[in-house]
Amino acid sequence: MIEFKDVSKTYQAKEGPVKAITDVNLTIPDGKIYGIVGYSGAGKSTLIRMLNGLETPTTGKVTVNGQNVSELSGQRLREERLQIGMIFQHFDLLWSRTVLENVEFPLEIAKKGNKKERQKKAEELVKLVGLQGRENAYPSELSGGQKQRVGIARALANDPKILLSDEATSALDPQTTDEVLELLLDINHRLGITIVVITHEMHVIRKICDHVAVLDAGRIVEEGPVLDVFKHP
Ligand code: ADP
Ligand code: ADP
Repeated sequence: MIEFKDVSKTYQAKEGPVKAITDVNLTIPDGKIYGIVGYSGAGKSTLIRMLNGLETPTTGKVTVNGQNVSELSGQRLREERLQIGMIFQHFDLLWSRTVLENVEFPLEIAKKGNKKERQKKAEELVKLVGLQGRENAYPSELSGGQKQRVGIARALANDPKILLSDEATSALDPQTTDEVLELLLDINHRLGITIVVITHEMHVIRKICDHVAVLDAGRIVEEGPVLDVFKHP
């Protein structure tokens, strides 16, 4: 479970203080697909950085599975970060490595198992995302949708409890977006993993999320089941 409790964040910029997040209260239960939607500048990245311990709330508390993120540092913070797999708009793949090597990479970093075990795990994940047969391809040989599938497989390598999608479909065409969203739904059903979907695109939320919070100028202005929040009058 993820919890933001009375969280505010003010950056100290050269021009003076910038209030990025104001009084956010948010509970994201396990196993859900939870959307956070907002325009550019709404504060989405700031929420993500507080979740990962890259920023500390100015006031309030962010907890992941009962652990206050700001109380962690060093090795404990690195371990806790493995609980959150991330996928990004521009995929952030290693271009000189193959599909399989990209998926293995987080296991190498976390020093999990031996080479053979890591390879086996990576092969399973490549299958899970529907890329079997492309293990030895390089990212430059893949379509955008396939690149994001590699990103998803890599994000799942360390068996995270949460998958955080940061504008993961924003660079994809509508059909590829739908395919990637279907895959996320499938992964949620099969692995029971919590998925947090950060986006500026309402249709992404409508398509896969159970719950949504609408962020505007650092505040949550709407929150609830997608069907209620986006109900047409
Ligand atoms: P989003 O991800 O929704 O576009 P951000 O979290 O990046 O929103 O930004 C929220 C607000 O905080 C914006 O006004 C932005 O300019 C400001 N902001 C973000 N990061 C910093 C920073 N490091 N220093 C100063 N202001 C920042
Ligand atoms: P490594 O040598 O560790 O395998 P690379 O040198 O291939 O890593 O890539 C380092 C980073 O630079 C990658 O994370 C990737 O995002 C970026 N990068 C490398 N090549 C390209 C490219 N052709 N286009 C976009 N980004 C690239």
